Amino acid sequence: MSSAERKMQFLYALRSRGVTDKRVLTAMETVDRGMFVRGMFNERAYEDMPLPISCGQTISQPSIVGLMTQALNVKPRDKVLEVGTGSGYQAAILSHLARRVYTVDRHRRLVREAREIFEQLGLVNITTFTADGSRGLAEQAPFDRILLTAAAEDPPGPLLAQLRVGGIMVLPVGQSDAVQTLIKVTHTESGFEYEELREVRFVPLLEGLGNEE
Ligand code: SAH
Repeated sequence: MSSAERKMQFLYALRSRGVTDKRVLTAMETVDRGMFVRGMFNERAYEDMPLPISCGQTISQPSIVGLMTQALNVKPRDKVLEVGTGSGYQAAILSHLARRVYTVDRHRRLVREAREIFEQLGLVNITTFTADGSRGLAEQAPFDRILLTAAAEDPPGPLLAQLRVGGIMVLPVGQSDAVQTLIKVTHTESGFEYEELREVRFVPLLEGLGNEE
């Protein structure tokens, strides 16, 4: 299959699974997922499935990345926080939609590898951090949008506190190893509104730093 055909199929799979937002589709067309999948799984980068990356983590399924990004409704002036950098793929997509992206992972190695790719791609509006993202990034707060790509039991309090009024947070919630629910939290003048979007399955949000290196 030619790379043009693969790209067509990739975009078709996204649309058929409900990713219809034009800006999101354009961003996903621009960011080559193959850059973020190393080793033997690289040739499967254009299939709509999660794949293994370093540190025992996974790069999410493209259609789920698309649906989450669409639910986040990112505006060009937005400052976005992503918790769970992983491969960096989701952050790269956000960087095409937002003014600034802060992305944090508890694994130093994943952050380093993702940062190298951002540099290669010239994505200068992404700032990376190795930290426990469940506490957010107090120095950079408040955020217009917050996206978690690891599942928490409940929306972490520090992240709710760092979400600007008018802001949106999208995250999977539920016990690890069980079916989780993707939810959208909107911070309104009168408090937080919660909306359930769909069932998903993510790795758990863990406390503290990864213990490699
Ligand atoms: N968004 C990624 C996929 C992330 S997989 C991508 O596009 O490839 C989930 C990631 O969340 C893993 O890399 C894991 O290390 C990270 N993670 C889990 N708990 C965390 C925490 N408390 N703080 C920061 N990152 C965390």
